[in-house]
Amino acid sequence: MTAQLIFTGLLMLTLAVFSWTVLTYVYRFNLTGPYKITHWGKRIGIMFRVAIGQSRIFRRPVIGFFHALTFWGFCVITLGSLEMVVDGLTGSERSFAGLGVLYDVITGSGDVFALIVLVSIIIFLIRRLFLNIKRFHGVEMKEKSHIDAVVALTMIFLLMVSLLGYNVSSVLSSPTSIAGNYPVSSFLASLFSSSAAKLPGFFWWSHITLIFIFANILPYSKHFHVFLSIPNVLLSRLGPLGKAEPMENVMKEVKAMLYPDQAEAPTGEPDRFGLLDAGDVTWKSYLDSLTCTQCGRCTDVCPANKTGKLLSPRKLMIDLRERMKEMAADKMKNGKDHVDGKNYLGEYITSEEIWACTMCNACARECPVNINQPSLILDMRRYLVMEKAAAPAAINMMFSNIENNGAPWQYGSHDRLNWTAGLDFPVPVMADLKAQGKKPEYLLWIGCAGAFDDRYQKVARAMVKLLNHLKIDFAVLGTEETCTGDPARRAGNEMLYLMQAFTLIETFKSYEVSKIITLCPHCFNTFLNEYPDLGYSAEVEHYTTFLDRHFKPVGSAVKSGAFKEDKIVFHDPCYLGRANDVYQAPRSLLGTVDSGKAEMDHNKSFSLCCGAGGSQYFKEAEKGTGEVFAARTAEAVACGATVIASSCPFCLTMLTDGVKYLNKESEIRNLDVAEILVMEAGL
Ligand code: SF4
Ligand code: SF4
Repeated sequence: MTAQLIFTGLLMLTLAVFSWTVLTYVYRFNLTGPYKITHWGKRIGIMFRVAIGQSRIFRRPVIGFFHALTFWGFCVITLGSLEMVVDGLTGSERSFAGLGVLYDVITGSGDVFALIVLVSIIIFLIRRLFLNIKRFHGVEMKEKSHIDAVVALTMIFLLMVSLLGYNVSSVLSSPTSIAGNYPVSSFLASLFSSSAAKLPGFFWWSHITLIFIFANILPYSKHFHVFLSIPNVLLSRLGPLGKAEPMENVMKEVKAMLYPDQAEAPTGEPDRFGLLDAGDVTWKSYLDSLTCTQCGRCTDVCPANKTGKLLSPRKLMIDLRERMKEMAADKMKNGKDHVDGKNYLGEYITSEEIWACTMCNACARECPVNINQPSLILDMRRYLVMEKAAAPAAINMMFSNIENNGAPWQYGSHDRLNWTAGLDFPVPVMADLKAQGKKPEYLLWIGCAGAFDDRYQKVARAMVKLLNHLKIDFAVLGTEETCTGDPARRAGNEMLYLMQAFTLIETFKSYEVSKIITLCPHCFNTFLNEYPDLGYSAEVEHYTTFLDRHFKPVGSAVKSGAFKEDKIVFHDPCYLGRANDVYQAPRSLLGTVDSGKAEMDHNKSFSLCCGAGGSQYFKEAEKGTGEVFAARTAEAVACGATVIASSCPFCLTMLTDGVKYLNKESEIRNLDVAEILVMEAGL
């Protein structure tokens, strides 16, 4: 009875402290913005795949294997912990023994997992304490973070030791009558003297006390993910990585400008555009920051961080958590409306960090708990651009070019068909066909680079040669093409993006465009994933998937031998690959070319950005120790390729710069997949 009373007291104390912590967090969550949750079926699937199945963790198979075992072990062992709580409250022993065979399964797997988790934790501790693992370091990884990690790992180590100790001593104290199944402990019991049989009580109390302490340490530690990873993954952002979330408040303003007769009357104070302080994030983003395991997988793959820029996606999470703690403490003390004069963007995250991002989504693809870091960066850019007009000068220049010329460069729309010069067949134009009462099956979207960039004009010509060869019924918009708005959007100018997008959608509707083939993966991503938010959907294909269906079956028969002596490597553009999961089509097209093939160290979803995304193309890169384009080109050189194939205008330019930068022009050349096909087919 005394033991029961002590246990109940301890449990009450644990729950009281835990409830206080929960209340603190409820207060902080109340300071954040809304986040809509829909599609529960899809979410449950993601939860099983990513959280329970640990699919992201297995992207690093060796250490991922030990982490997954630890996670699964925790799930099983938690059932045993529940039994201990029931035992403690009722004064009984092994209360769940009545479950029969199921009890044998639970205790048996719990016993085996206790050993597995113990071994895994020893490996994690050795890695953390004695091996110099790069991703455990970084400006954001303060002494406190390391101590936090070591304390939590040590607690788990002690939890497993006490659990095994309890099982071993229980087996020794009642070898024939103990309920359940203990394969590991039965073996270990044979190694210990029978004096350990007196210790079940000691180990039981040690284990349960550790559980109570651990439960109250977790919410203040990076190991909060033990509780939060499953709900965080369940609630994660849905949709392809390339899709940026719309801003309702900006949309309203733009619609009011474009369609004043349909405008709703403004109500109340206008919301802030973008993210300045912790209170501007959604409650889900705050949950992300609490769930972040600080594993550094995101920072480890970040091209900006790899090349010595200040940006670290992990830091975004650590700093958000810290800033919210600071801001909430101030508000709790001085009232909800009090402002302490500090902000997340400014005091914690600098604009230099924000502008270094290439929006490549490598971080988001890697995060084991499905955090989407680029969306925070984008929201901070939105604040800097739309509230402060504080974009870098080159980005402002790009904005005014789009506003004035409908392209990110200083070219007028009247020059948009210049790329067709030199072709020995006419390129059909939508307006001409409409005048003749015709409607082509496909719109071929040339994009600003195809229209104006000398080098990419060749790719546009190659593409129409292929379509002509295949007798595809297509047309281009010609002088009616205008920027999709994507470069403005990725640089934070949502307003300009919307103006461009709504204008273009009107044009598409006027020609009843329902099928679009794009050259550029960024345009492809925008039409496919972002225009539907504005009420326009079409069948959108990047040219590589289109040609994979139409050209490959006939094209593979023609071999000019133009690449016989070459070794071709494909560079995955971020907005084709990671953002939209198109990896196979360009490879399968290149597979028809008579040449050697290679793969870079980082390929497909692991691919390294070329350095141009997120509107980096239009500005100087932030200061670092290296250049992203050079790092990527070096990988291509290292794999022995003589041709780098790409399928994005920005990648083509960056990798060409990379080849020059590395002085490898005599060894390796850059071509677009469409050009390679034309050369191979002798068109
Ligand atoms: S999107 Fe790419 S560049 Fe930006 S933080 Fe993530 S990994 Fe780094
Ligand atoms: S954001 Fe995700 S990948 Fe990055 S440190 Fe946190 S948990 Fe790891």
